[in-house]
Amino acid sequence: MDTPNAPLIIIGAGPAGLYAAVQLGMKGHRSTIIDALPYPGGQCAALYPAGMINDAPSHHDISAASLVDQLKDQLQPFAPLLLTSRRAKSVWGSLDAGFSVETNTGETITGAAVIYAGGAGALIPRPLMTSGIEAVKGGVSYLTEGAQTSAGKRVAVFGDGEAAIDLALTVSRQAKSVALIHSTPLRAGQRTMNDLAGAARRLSVVNGDLSRVHSADGLLSRIEISVNGAAQMHDVDLLLVQAGLERARETITGLTDINNAMTGETETPGIFIIGDALPSASRPPVIAAGFSEASRAVEAIQQRFNADELTTPPHTTTSPDEQAHRNVA
Ligand SMILES: Cc1cc2nc3c(=O)[nH]c(=O)nc-3n(C[C@H](O)[C@H](O)[C@H](O)COP(=O)(O)OP(=O)(O)OC[C@H]3O[C@@H](n4cnc5c(N)ncnc54)[C@H](O)[C@@H]3O)c2cc1C
Repeated sequence: MDTPNAPLIIIGAGPAGLYAAVQLGMKGHRSTIIDALPYPGGQCAALYPAGMINDAPSHHDISAASLVDQLKDQLQPFAPLLLTSRRAKSVWGSLDAGFSVETNTGETITGAAVIYAGGAGALIPRPLMTSGIEAVKGGVSYLTEGAQTSAGKRVAVFGDGEAAIDLALTVSRQAKSVALIHSTPLRAGQRTMNDLAGAARRLSVVNGDLSRVHSADGLLSRIEISVNGAAQMHDVDLLLVQAGLERARETITGLTDINNAMTGETETPGIFIIGDALPSASRPPVIAAGFSEASRAVEAIQQRFNADELTTPPHTTTSPDEQAHRNVA
């Protein structure tokens, strides 16, 4: 089988998926990466960006956000297509006919092989359960989506963590007004808290429960905050919810069991599983394990498409391709 023209599909942009894309790029393959989150980085970016990792290969002290930045830099010369904010729902196909992945947004993404690097499942924003929310068809956004539409608007940001404060600070530079609403104590590093204090003239901070949202013709118009039992009304055009993440419960149809524990290939040749998504009680749920599995899956893919040739030099230090990539980057 010849090297495919079609890209390879990676489901999951956590460390394992990103590193698989790096490895694919180094072997001359394009990749399309799908993630449920609006940004790459998986658990590192979404759950503990400021957490210091001490056991990442060759980094004894690196923040999770910096580790993701390093991976993005390493990936940059290979220009993968990154499709965020959509969840893979089903996968089907074969090595001969090619594979398709259907997303919850109704797209069908095609590719020559599939690597599933979905960790413990798709990370999605925790939905707002506030009364009145079911009638709101526009004006409420989750995570960082919607922030770019905040210019000139009256914005409320709901959340108590670093991400909520960062978002409020960012939109306060262009919004008409910003209220940061938190129902539990703010949790952020000293630098972020200092930035928040320094922005007191651009944004207000309200400690209370978001008790109701109101809409007019389906568009958000007002929010009600209960502060020590008293209701406060705020007219708003845009509510940005940063209230944490949860895991989608759905599974991907078409993903079969592992057939080759060494490469992560499933019972469907051409579909691989790597990273924390691997179902093994003895596998440590760490980043280093995912990197190693990514390398092995990519090598197996390479051999599937070029079984009769030794195609790639084993080390990037001696690879002309890698030297070329470095020159491009
Ligand atoms: C608080 C905390 C601290 C940690 N500290 C360390 C540490 O110090 N050292 C260490 O090595 N490890 C640490 N870990 C573990 C490490 O982060 C994980 O092992 C690693 O992130 C797993 O990488 P992954 O790429 O396999 O999966 P993930 O990082 O979970 O990424 C999977 C991605 O796939 C996406 N996804 C899943 N299903 C779908 C779908 N159907 N469609 C679209 N997208 C989908 C998810 O949204 C997610 O972005 C820590 C974890 C936590 C929570």
